[in-house]
Amino acid sequence: MEQKDFITNYNFKFKKKYGQNFLIDENILNNIVNSVDIDSETLVIEIGCGAGALTKKLVLKTKKVVGYEIDKTLKPILDTISDAKIIFDDFLNRDINKDIENINYKKMFIVSNLPYYITTPIISKIINDKIDVNKIVIMVQKEVGDRLSAKVNSKDYGSLTVFINYYFKVKKLFFVSKNVFLPKPNVDSVVIMLEKKENKYDLINPNLFFKIVRDSFLHKRKTLKNNLKSYNFEIISNVLSEYGFNDNVRAEQIPMEVFIKIANSLSS
Ligand code: SAM
Repeated sequence: MEQKDFITNYNFKFKKKYGQNFLIDENILNNIVNSVDIDSETLVIEIGCGAGALTKKLVLKTKKVVGYEIDKTLKPILDTISDAKIIFDDFLNRDINKDIENINYKKMFIVSNLPYYITTPIISKIINDKIDVNKIVIMVQKEVGDRLSAKVNSKDYGSLTVFINYYFKVKKLFFVSKNVFLPKPNVDSVVIMLEKKENKYDLINPNLFFKIVRDSFLHKRKTLKNNLKSYNFEIISNVLSEYGFNDNVRAEQIPMEVFIKIANSLSS
């Protein structure tokens, strides 16, 4: 049965507040699942199972699927999928490492069509909770995908870009039209892959680094010097000139490595 008819049969009431736009296109679902090499020893975490369109595809590849769904009214639909452990709770409130502690696996992926209203909190949680994930394949709003994968000196390059690129190599996989969802959202989407960077940069004080990055982009039109008034700018200025930048530089012109050097210089 087609996913669209399957959902209609359950007379399910969509909840906008949970970002419920369900995928109904077989090709897109297959492309998402096939973009990572899932085998029977792979643990896959899915955030927001919805009516299980993606979950059904994932359990064909591995029996080690752990899904999260905040909306308990989806339980009758999701109960039709055997072989997945679905936790009906808010992903953001869970202790993920505890939820998976009894599962043996060789590699772990997160594969999800994200609830867009909490994209950044979800990615931050994955990082902060130190979830041992190898690759993350997520569908996000197109504009967010543009920001995550932006190159330095482009209009989309911002603090989110620097933050994510510190932890992950970001790859845009493919564009997804708003027409393949039920109900149809107002925005287009993109599927991206985040691959954990193994050799992270030497940061003396990660919190200071993230604070500097946030502060640097606070007012996009202002120069770095204006945004970073509360820091010792003499030290920052020395680092900038080392990389050929003068004091009128704006944050969007600065590659992540330079932000790291600035943070480390201010830490030592
Ligand atoms: N995976 C399904 C699909 O592709 O058709 C549904 C994707 S839909 C964009 C996002 C899903 O995330 C919804 O089912 C929504 O109820 C669920 N969700 C929203 N907030 C959540 C949260 N905090 N924790 C877990 N699930 C959540």
